[in-house]
Amino acid sequence: MSGPEGMRDAAAAGRFALQRCTACGRAQYPPREVCAACLSDRLAWQVAEALPGVLLARTVLHHSHEERFRPRLPLGIGLVRLAAGPVVLCFAPVPRTIGDAVQVRAALDETGTPVLTAR
Ligand SMILES: [Zn+2]
Repeated sequence: MSGPEGMRDAAAAGRFALQRCTACGRAQYPPREVCAACLSDRLAWQVAEALPGVLLARTVLHHSHEERFRPRLPLGIGLVRLAAGPVVLCFAPVPRTIGDAVQVRAALDETGTPVLTAR
């Protein structure tokens, strides 16, 4: 299974499934039906408890138009470049310095949506 459901199933088990093209080797996020680099549909999952990356940016939201985020305010949000290549937007609850090494984990939120968290 190459679509978003593969990532959701892994996240339900507390694992981060990152899509990787077996034709050109490139990792991509979010999951797609074909490789964004070479258009191959030979996509596999790299599944891990957590994936290492580097924090590129972090901010703290003090307001949200999303009802489900309001109980969690203030909410840390970060951009992380995974060692595998892709840049991911994720929750970043712990204050960090730009350039710090982090681990990104996946889980389902209360709505069943896969979410990434960097710590
Ligand atoms: Zn490819």
